[in-house]
Amino acid sequence: MDRDSSGGDNSPLSRRRFLKNTAVIGAVAWVPAMRIGPAHADASCPPPPNFPPHVELFQQTFENWAKAIRVDDLWTAAPRTAQECADLANWAASNGWQLRPRGAMHNWSPIHITADITCDSKILMVSTTDYLTDMSMLPGNPATVRVEAGAFMEDLLDYLETRGYGMCNVPAPGDVTVGGALAVDAHGTAIPAAGEQRQAGHSYGTLSNLLLSITAVVWDRRANQYVLRRFERDQRNAGVLATSLGRSFITEVEFQVGHNQNLRCQSFTDIPYTELMAAPGCGGRSFASFLEQSGRAEIIWFPFTDKPWLKVWSVAPTKPLASRQVSEPYNYPFSDNMPDDIEALARSLSQGNKASTPVFGQNMYAVTTAGLTATQSTDIWGPSKNTLLYIKPTTLRITASGYGVMTRRDNIQQVVYDVTQKYLAMVADYESRGEYPMNMPVEIRVNGLEQAGEVEAADPAMPLLSAASPDRERPDWDVVVWFNCLSFVGTEQADAFYSEMEQWFGQRFDGSDAAVRPEWSKGWGYNPEGAWTNDAYLDSVADSYRLHRDKRERWDYAVRRFDKLDPYRVFTNGFIDRLLR
Ligand code: FAD
Repeated sequence: MDRDSSGGDNSPLSRRRFLKNTAVIGAVAWVPAMRIGPAHADASCPPPPNFPPHVELFQQTFENWAKAIRVDDLWTAAPRTAQECADLANWAASNGWQLRPRGAMHNWSPIHITADITCDSKILMVSTTDYLTDMSMLPGNPATVRVEAGAFMEDLLDYLETRGYGMCNVPAPGDVTVGGALAVDAHGTAIPAAGEQRQAGHSYGTLSNLLLSITAVVWDRRANQYVLRRFERDQRNAGVLATSLGRSFITEVEFQVGHNQNLRCQSFTDIPYTELMAAPGCGGRSFASFLEQSGRAEIIWFPFTDKPWLKVWSVAPTKPLASRQVSEPYNYPFSDNMPDDIEALARSLSQGNKASTPVFGQNMYAVTTAGLTATQSTDIWGPSKNTLLYIKPTTLRITASGYGVMTRRDNIQQVVYDVTQKYLAMVADYESRGEYPMNMPVEIRVNGLEQAGEVEAADPAMPLLSAASPDRERPDWDVVVWFNCLSFVGTEQADAFYSEMEQWFGQRFDGSDAAVRPEWSKGWGYNPEGAWTNDAYLDSVADSYRLHRDKRERWDYAVRRFDKLDPYRVFTNGFIDRLLR
């Protein structure tokens, strides 16, 4: 039974999206190529036993974003309904299998599957993107959209836009699923500008803070089986499931949404980092000054360059004279599709040509400045989705460390300055030894916390495992500054660099004026040998939520509730078990 491998379902939305993408890029690189059914002669290991005959089953490649975890022939199911997800959980519990909910596989960390998995491992992937993609607006106030977990964020934002609604803080790629994004408290960059009033339905927190209800597959003690259960936002289980790390199976959610905003996005490539990321009090065009003016900004700083690419979004109901109106997202094609010579140079960095890293960084900066001009993208304007989504699946497959630093808004510049100084010192130190571990940009974004006052529901439960969940003992902390350091997979000394940087993050942001937590989807827990391998760090993740009493209760409560909601440990893996204890 070979099936269409477009990765989209048969709904008009996904088909439209697939056609749109293929028209632009020729091929959808991330779509798993192979689908082999159980009766197929090529099946490489026996099908799962006693499998519910009504659920679609096939073998398919699993590959995470950086291609560091790849299994060619994992047994995979594509449930047509949420009830089929519950059927699968009951089958798995009875037969000793585990289920891994699978969205677009645009994740780095082993919360999905661990690298040692084979098709004999009694792990069944459950694809949500094939059928669980329905969405509809619900009548009433606040404006609410119901969406199944396998819907792509771009499809959801498209759907909302045509009805006059939108979100203000969303991840940059549109081809991540609602379920996958919620699992990792996905975010963009947004805090209120000075004097800006929050619009009803919007939140400056992560996607998890927009939830009004969440439906998941959970164990029902009375019925003695896994069932679908809906939790309203004021129920504590909603707070547990809101950032699930894949330790549960979310089938459907309801999000509050606000009236769509038109956003202007201006790019600057002429501000030296010594000004943009200077110590607080230096004046000039500091990162904090842009946040005050507009509330929404991102730094992309190419290695060995002086002037970062700064993007600044501002709410602009009507088109500013200087802006170009955009009717589609992904308006920086030069950053999604590198010129061939730059890609060749990139490849050579890990093939004995690492000393060319500074030249490579400068080339990327040059491509960006030229690209912005050539595509007239320096100043663009349109409905929010068209400037908030800007990463396509054709972008380079690189690896990234990720941390969120929770702090006070008036401390953002200090935090950015300190990280900048540490990064520069480390890069110089490595260079003095002939090493160039950081060959892709540093990225910096900021968003608000999961504030209860931004939820259009009484007494909302907080997303317990979100790095943006407020700390009741530090009410002065109101933002998270996200830092990502990027490098090509396999870059020499990169993991040593990440490991050293991570230790410094922990020491510098020790809870006095700021605290650091991992960004779940990205790289953390480094040893010089690799990410997610540092036992001391894995223990300290829990501690980073245990910084204050309030947090200790939250982490432990979440771990206990996950175990109650899934006593047969159907929705977990060895890494999640290690982390959540
Ligand atoms: P998958 O990778 O398929 O799954 C990720 C995790 O979610 C797994 O543990 C999986 O089991 C779990 N999961 C999936 N579906 C469900 C479900 N229905 N119920 C419960 N658990 C589920 N993140 C940001 O926050 N902001 C960004 O701007 C951003 N940019 C990115 C850019 C790139 C190029 C890439 C590759 C990633 C980026 N990310 C960003 C990270 C991304 O949002 C997360 O990795 C997200 O989890 C990917 O969603 P997915 O659909 O691919 O999920």
